[in-house]
Amino acid sequence: MYLNEATLLHNIRLRYNKDKIYTYVANILIAVNPYFEVKNLYTLDTIHAYQGRSLGQMPPHVFAIADKAFRDMKVLKESQSIVVSGESGAGKTESTKYILRYLCESWGSKMANPVLEAFGNAKTTRNNNSSRFGKFIEIHFSDKHLVVGGFISHYLLEKSRIVGQSSQERNYHIFYQLCAGAPDELRSKLRLSNPDDFEYLRHGCTQYFVSKETQSKLSNNSVSRAHSSSGPLRDPILDDVRNFAALDKALGNLGLGGQERLSIYTCVAAVLHLGNVQFEDNPDDVKGGCRVCGSSSESLRVCAGLLGVDPNHLNQALLSRVMQPSKGGHKGTVIMVPLKVHEAKGGRDALAKAMYSKLFDYIVHRINQSIPFSSSAYYIGVLDIAGFEYFPVNSFEQFCINYCNEKLQQFFNERILKEEQQIYEKEGLGVKKISYVDNQDCIDLIEAKNTGLISLLDEEHKLPKPSPSHFTSMCHQHHASHFRLALPRKSRLKDHREIRDDEGFLIRHFAGAVCYQTAEFLAKNNDALHASLEGLAQEAGNQFIRGLFMSGAAPSSARGKLTFISIAAKFKTQLQELMDKLMSTGTSFVRCIKPNVKMVDHEFEGGPILSQLQCSGMTSVLELMQQGYPSRAPFHDLYHMYKQFLPAQLSRLDPRLFCKALFRALGLDEKDFKFGLTRVFFRPGKYAEFDQIMRSD
Ligand code: ATP
Ligand code: MG
Repeated sequence: MYLNEATLLHNIRLRYNKDKIYTYVANILIAVNPYFEVKNLYTLDTIHAYQGRSLGQMPPHVFAIADKAFRDMKVLKESQSIVVSGESGAGKTESTKYILRYLCESWGSKMANPVLEAFGNAKTTRNNNSSRFGKFIEIHFSDKHLVVGGFISHYLLEKSRIVGQSSQERNYHIFYQLCAGAPDELRSKLRLSNPDDFEYLRHGCTQYFVSKETQSKLSNNSVSRAHSSSGPLRDPILDDVRNFAALDKALGNLGLGGQERLSIYTCVAAVLHLGNVQFEDNPDDVKGGCRVCGSSSESLRVCAGLLGVDPNHLNQALLSRVMQPSKGGHKGTVIMVPLKVHEAKGGRDALAKAMYSKLFDYIVHRINQSIPFSSSAYYIGVLDIAGFEYFPVNSFEQFCINYCNEKLQQFFNERILKEEQQIYEKEGLGVKKISYVDNQDCIDLIEAKNTGLISLLDEEHKLPKPSPSHFTSMCHQHHASHFRLALPRKSRLKDHREIRDDEGFLIRHFAGAVCYQTAEFLAKNNDALHASLEGLAQEAGNQFIRGLFMSGAAPSSARGKLTFISIAAKFKTQLQELMDKLMSTGTSFVRCIKPNVKMVDHEFEGGPILSQLQCSGMTSVLELMQQGYPSRAPFHDLYHMYKQFLPAQLSRLDPRLFCKALFRALGLDEKDFKFGLTRVFFRPGKYAEFDQIMRSD
C-alpha cells in the first residue's frame, strides 16, 4: 500500500524471517543470501515448476528470472541479459550459477566453474570464495532454442593480490590447491612445499582449507603438516585437496591434456618461486644498484629453470633496465640502468602479475574454445560483477568498479523507467513522462575525452616525470567547479596525519560520495613491464610462457623504453562493448543482498541492508515510481478483498465495473488513481487511504 524504502526493508525482513529469500519490486528480483541451504529451493522439481510460468505466477525466484529471459528470447526473438549485482558475499556468483544451471540443465557449463574459481577466486574477509574479477557469460542458442555454446568475457582481475594480501585473506585458491593437492611427483618437479615457504602467500592467511573427511583420508600426507583449517574460516565448499583434484579433472574435461595442464601448474609455481627472490644493496656497485640476496639465489635458479631461461639472464633482467634515450630524433645507444632495491622488487612483482594475469586470460580463452558455436540465433548473457564499493581507503580498483557501476546504474534507470512507461501505455493510462536524476555528468567526469579523469591519468603517464600529486591537482584544476568532484575532507587518519589535497579526490557517486587516494593510481593503471623483463619472457625456453607473452604483445619497437599500457583505457573500451551488448538485449535485474557481515544464517542487519538497497539503485527506483502510480491492484483482487464490505447488489457486478462503482461512490479524487485495462493504479499513499476508508465505513 505504501511503497518506499522503509516498507521495502520491512517486507524483505518479514520474508527473510520465513526463509523467503527472494522478493520482487516490479520485475526486479531482490535476493538475500541465506548463508544456509534452504530446503528444496533449487531441486530439479523446482526447476520444472518454474518452466514456462510467467513472472508472478510462482513465488519470487531466481529461476523465474531465468525463465523470463528464456521466454522473452523465444517470444520476442531477441537476445536477453541478466544483470546480477551486489556487494562482496551477497551471492552474485551463486545466483549466476543457478541461472546457468536453469538455462542449460544438461549442458556442460558446470565444468568451467571450478576452473574459473580456482584461478579467479580467493578468500577475503568479506567472502571465503570471493570472485576477484567480473564476468559476462553468454549462453548461445540455436533458432530452435537449444543451447549451442557459450562465451565468457572477463574484467579487471585483481592483480595486487598475486603479490600480497592482508593478514586474514588469501591469494588465489590455485596456489594453495597446488601446494596441498599436487601428487608427490608434481610437487617435487615444481619444488612445491608449504604455503608458509612462499613470500607471496605467507603474509596473508596461509591455511589450507581441508574438510574433515579429506583430512582423515590424508592423515600422513604433507597437508596435515601444513596447518589446515577446520575452524570458523572453513567454508563447506572449500577444500584445497579435493578442489585440486576437481580442477585437474575439469581442465581435462575442457580438453586440456596432461602436458598443457603441467604447463599451467608450472607457470603458477614459477610465480611462487619468483616471489621468493629478494634483493639487497650491492656495496660493490658504484652506480648504487642492488643484487639478489645469497639466500634466495636458489629460488632464482628454480624460477629460471621453470621458465626455461638462463638464471644469469633472469638475474640481469631483474637487476637492471635497458634504456635507449633518443637524441635529436635518432635512437641512441642502449644503456643498462642498474635498479635500486625497491625498483627491482617492483619489477619482480610486475613480472609475477603479468605471468599470472596472462595465464588467467589464457584459461578463459581455453574455456571459450571448449564451448564453441558455429552459429547462434540468440544469446542470454549473465553479468556477475562487483557492485558499488567504498572502503576506509579507496584506490584505483574502487575507482574502476564504481565507474562501471555508474554506467550500469544509468542503464538500470533507463530500463526501469522505460518498463514503467510501457506498463502505463499498455494499460492505456495516458500519463505524462517521468523524469529522474541523471548521472551522465558523473560518467562524463570520469570518461570524457581529454578532460575526463581517465584521460588526465593517461596523460600523466606520458609526462617526463609523472607524479600522483601532479595528476591529482590536474583533476582538481580541470573540474574546479564540477558538482561531482571535490577535495577530500581533511579528516584525520589513524596516524594523526592530515590528508593533503593533492593526495586524492572525492567523487559524488549516485550511491554516495567516495574519497579516493590517488597515490597508487599511476602504478596500478600501467600494465606494461619494463623492456628487459618483457624481452626475457618473450624469449623464454618454456614455450608455454613464451606463448603467453607473445600473444597480443606490444610490438617490440617499443623496446628500450618503459612502454605504457593503460588499464583504465582498456576497461573503458571493454565496458562500452558490454554496455552496447546490454542495450541491444532485453534485460532483467537481480539485486543480491548480504544479510550480515558475520556470514551467518538467520541474522538480518537492517542498517547495512538498507544501505545496500540504496547502493544498488533500488531506492532511486522507488523514487522514480513515486512520480507515477507505484501501487497497483488488479480489479479482480480489489473485488475479492472488498466485496464483503458492500451491499450484495454491488458484488454482482464484474470486477472492473465493481471497482468503478465503488470509487465513484466513495467520491475519490480522480487525481489519485487511474483505471487501466486490468488494474487500478494509485498515486503514492493513496491505496492505503482508500483501504482505510473501506475498513472504517
Ligand atoms: P564476491 O563479490 O566476493 O565474489 P558474491 O556476491 O559472488 O561475492 P557468492 O560467492 O556468490 O558471493 O556467495 C558467498 C557465499 O554465500 C557462498 O559461498 C555461499 O556459501 C553463500 N551463498 C550465496 N548464495 C547462496 C544461496 N542462494 N544459498 C545458500 N548459500 C548461498
Ligand atoms: Mg562472486
